[in-house]
Amino acid sequence: MTGTIPLSRQRNLGIIAHVDAGKTTLTERILFHAGRIHRIGGVDEGTTVTDHRPEEQAKGITITAAAVTCGWDDHALSLIDTPGHVDFTMEVERSLRVLDGAVVLLDAVAGVEPQTETVWRQAERHGVPRIAFVNKLDRAGADLGRAVRALEARLGARPLVLTLPEGEPLDALLDVVRRERVRFDAEGRVASREPCDHPRIDAAREALIEACAEVDEGLLEAWLEGEVDEAALWAALRRGTLEGRWLPVLAGSAYRNVGVPLLLDAVVALLPDPSVAAPLAEGWPRTVEAPLAALCFKVDFDAYGALAFVRVYAGVLRKGDAVDVNGRKLRVGRLVRLFADQREDVEAAPAGSIVALVNAELSTGDTLADPTRPIALEPVTAPEAVMRVAVEPRTRVDRDRLPKALARLRLADPSLRVLADPETGQTLLAGMGQLHLEIAVSRLRTEHGVTVDVGAPRVAYRETVGSRARVDETLRKQTGGPGLFAHVVMEVEPAEPGEGLVFEDRIRGGAIPREYVSGVRKGVEAAASCGALGHPVVDVRVVLLDGSTHPNDSSEHAFALCAEQAFRRALGEAGPVRLEPLVRLEVTVPEAHVGDVIGDLSARRGRIVGMETERDVVRLDAEAPLAALFGYAADLGSLARGRGTHHLELARYAPVPEGVAVRA
Ligand code: GDP
Repeated sequence: MTGTIPLSRQRNLGIIAHVDAGKTTLTERILFHAGRIHRIGGVDEGTTVTDHRPEEQAKGITITAAAVTCGWDDHALSLIDTPGHVDFTMEVERSLRVLDGAVVLLDAVAGVEPQTETVWRQAERHGVPRIAFVNKLDRAGADLGRAVRALEARLGARPLVLTLPEGEPLDALLDVVRRERVRFDAEGRVASREPCDHPRIDAAREALIEACAEVDEGLLEAWLEGEVDEAALWAALRRGTLEGRWLPVLAGSAYRNVGVPLLLDAVVALLPDPSVAAPLAEGWPRTVEAPLAALCFKVDFDAYGALAFVRVYAGVLRKGDAVDVNGRKLRVGRLVRLFADQREDVEAAPAGSIVALVNAELSTGDTLADPTRPIALEPVTAPEAVMRVAVEPRTRVDRDRLPKALARLRLADPSLRVLADPETGQTLLAGMGQLHLEIAVSRLRTEHGVTVDVGAPRVAYRETVGSRARVDETLRKQTGGPGLFAHVVMEVEPAEPGEGLVFEDRIRGGAIPREYVSGVRKGVEAAASCGALGHPVVDVRVVLLDGSTHPNDSSEHAFALCAEQAFRRALGEAGPVRLEPLVRLEVTVPEAHVGDVIGDLSARRGRIVGMETERDVVRLDAEAPLAALFGYAADLGSLARGRGTHHLELARYAPVPEGVAVRA
């Protein structure tokens, strides 16, 4: 196959960080250092550069593209964009699905910040191997040791330091593995390496070797005897990193061009290649020889149309091929790879690679598969929206364009929902948080040319039931022609929080034939989208117990209608309970103002669950209803005299207490 490089020399990685840690700066520096792959390795012969149209060139590919490819040391690196704000939890989840390893980026002054913690937990859940880059070591107050202790204390990580900062101001790094002082030129390339004996290196090296000896006993012996083989040390480090045993830590300053090449060396040496992960299914390895399986993880729109970003897990995706997309057929048209400065057409994308399909009918979460071996990769599930705003098109032109613009936004970001307000008929945009919605509204304007006025944000309630109820419902219609008949007996009861809607069929002996049971299920699902209080129904178990049919008048449709009625009645009888979203809130505030901040939180129905003081700054952990937190940023600002920060994340849904006013 042309244009491919072995899987062992590919790295799909993401940089995960709290906002402002320096992700944009670091990405720019990486793309600067890591040139086009063909410059360094001749690895993409077979591709043709066809984007000669000046406007396409001029536009350039921004570093915020969903995936950008570059090359380092004969390896192809694809940088996958991870969102910079926790409101986009779903985007983080889906980028974690398609990357194989991650660089956890910290600000050396701020250390581990709330979102660092969130994305760390998500990466852990997905089993994504990580290394860390402690950035901004040029800043006053930067402290590698403190950042390392925070990694231990707040993330439970086991950091192993590979490079140490040197110089005030920072102008070199100490390479712990090679015992060298490394200097960089003005553009950040390695300018010199010289042997260096330093007690800081000795201490870090001892810790490193002791750890690596856990996976390679020979290392300890070699060390005691005086010399450790560098290749063996890297091999052991890699093993432990892939197993998630420890977190290799590199130091530097992206802005001052210190340390980026050493970080890239570590990416290549320590992060996994695409074949390392478990097979997709029994006998379905992640190799080019296996049948095609690829996942569309992002759809972006620009002036030229849609770019559907696809990660190929197995097989080869070829231009012109007919592939299966969740049961329908798709002809693969133009395939492009994105580089820092342009896109290039490619003929084929083998396992491990990331490409974009131009103007293909794909949406986020679609699986592309070999039509003879269809497979559905687990879609990235869109979480239920927790907040919504009414949007009102400003002009007639805006009104005409809005539906199409909203449909495109939804394709790109399925965690956005569009609904109609049942009372006012207004269009409601629902999403994961205030910022998520603000950005969606701004994308409507900048990407789709639609301006809207936005109403006050409201939280998205849900409902469940408080007790059990059994109903016996019969539907009988006789209006000339074929009639309708269905009879169901069902029970509803509370399920565990987070279980959603559970449907259980306990019909024995065929009192209702199977095809009608599926009608019952559909009817229940339809009724559950808008329950007794007008909210989606969750955490309810529905048990179908019994029923009967009519020889002529029964149908799936009749059972769906009957089940809908039965379920609505059961909800009313079981006592509907309104649920509201609660968030986990982390607030940092100078000690002097902590009393005011706590007082304000209790007024907002918040509950303090933890409190920690470091120097004169208090970190509060709290749980509070989202509905009581609108405008919190501004209020915290005045309570803490501009020195407070906060971070919130959806925690769970819980019943709205008695006596709390609700504006659904
Ligand atoms: P992002 O929000 O994570 O993408 O962060 P940016 O790359 O936009 O950086 C946030 C701010 O930190 C900007 O003002 C950068 O210039 C600055 N910054 C980034 N890296 C460094 C660094 O290594 N040292 C210093 N002193 N500032 C940095």
